Amino acid sequence: MSELRELYQEVILDHNKRPRNFKELDPHSHHASGHNPLCGDKLELYLLVENDIIKDISFIGSGCAISTSSASLMTEFLKGKSLSTTKALFEHFHDLVTGTEISADQLEELGKLAIFAGVQEFPARVKCASLSWHTLMNALEAPEETAQTE
Ligand code: ZN
Repeated sequence: MSELRELYQEVILDHNKRPRNFKELDPHSHHASGHNPLCGDKLELYLLVENDIIKDISFIGSGCAISTSSASLMTEFLKGKSLSTTKALFEHFHDLVTGTEISADQLEELGKLAIFAGVQEFPARVKCASLSWHTLMNALEAPEETAQTE
């Protein structure tokens, strides 16, 4: 467990310092804003989806190390994935950070994201780790075209 904890800190520090895919995406097909008032984390998430595949994904915003690194790792991980895979990964990730048991196969599918199992011990941090994922789900449910017709 201490090995996982060290990896967890290392990866989080690295992605917080140098977030991947940290930019506005233009053009994009989906966009949503996320806010975690408990911690003050804010982010904007952008997606370019073509034929149900995430062609590109990016984010901007400001927040704590956990929320920033989680968004960074998520964007890195989901590029090229199908929407159905993405939705399944969201479920597994959500179970992982909330401490719901997941199978070894599901844990393996999450790859590097498995390090966020560490937040289980810190309930206040669960929202930080899952903010980017919830924002992603909101973005996918409300494509830009629809949002702009208001
Ligand atoms: Zn936070």
